[in-house]
Amino acid sequence: MADAPQRKRAFDTYDLTLVETREIAPRNKHLRFALPAGKELGFHAGQYAQLFIPHEGGVRRRAYSIASSPWHADYFELCVTLVDGGISSTYLHNMKVGDKIQGMVPLGHFLIKDESRDFVFIATGSGVAPFRAMVHDMAHRNLPRELYLIYGHRYEPDIIYRAEWENLAKRYPRFHFLFTLSRDTNWKGERGYVQEKVAAFVPNLKEKAYYICGLNNMVTAVNERLLSLGVPKEQIFFERYD
Ligand SMILES: Cc1cc2nc3c(=O)[nH]c(=O)nc-3n(C[C@H](O)[C@H](O)[C@H](O)COP(=O)(O)OP(=O)(O)OC[C@H]3O[C@@H](n4cnc5c(N)ncnc54)[C@H](O)[C@@H]3O)c2cc1C
Repeated sequence: MADAPQRKRAFDTYDLTLVETREIAPRNKHLRFALPAGKELGFHAGQYAQLFIPHEGGVRRRAYSIASSPWHADYFELCVTLVDGGISSTYLHNMKVGDKIQGMVPLGHFLIKDESRDFVFIATGSGVAPFRAMVHDMAHRNLPRELYLIYGHRYEPDIIYRAEWENLAKRYPRFHFLFTLSRDTNWKGERGYVQEKVAAFVPNLKEKAYYICGLNNMVTAVNERLLSLGVPKEQIFFERYD
């Protein structure tokens, strides 16, 4: 098993260049930002970038979880959900390859501190971003832990990085995923909310470490469900987006 990449991890402000942008779901874009030539970014999976969004002559600062593996040092990737009327998400969705933006990175403490347990990652929407970084990092290091992802959306086309999760599970048998959709009546897979799926999907559930990420209502609902199932609160970690 390889160790995590060892590079400087202090945060800094960078001039970032958008080098890739693609729509990955109806309201979601995957964005890759390159650091200035010669700069290397050291970060832990789970951290975020704070982008400085130009707005009405000033800047608005917004946080976005890094969705790429810490093993790539000269760029990082984000996935951004378009929020109706949202200043930052609209700006980022309109950026073109070659555009520049300033950002502070890496920030945040939503990190894996203990790798002695199997992991359960629970997300809705772009809350899956930090788990993409974590799962790629763990797979890269061949971490001898079972990894479970419970990932919720409303409709099938909304599922972000779907082919990637499916391929990862084939290459890395310790990775197990479950998609659950709350509104798609044509979906043949699991239906309902993420918190309803834990008990049936996760074996020995009291032994696992839980990481939850997304909007506050979901995080609260999952946390309450885990506690009611008897998971010790010391084994539950979360990041709220709003
Ligand atoms: C640590 C952290 C990491 C984050 N990572 C991501 C990420 O990886 N991808 C991502 O898309 N967003 C992420 N967010 C949310 C992001 O920072 C912005 O809040 C979001 O993009 C909305 O900003 P905006 O300027 O477009 O909207 P604003 O003009 O600030 O309006 C926001 C309004 O929209 C509502 N809203 C609806 N949907 C969302 C949503 N998905 N997120 C936030 N507010 C919402 C809020 O309640 C609020 O009323 C993260 C937030 C935090 C704190």
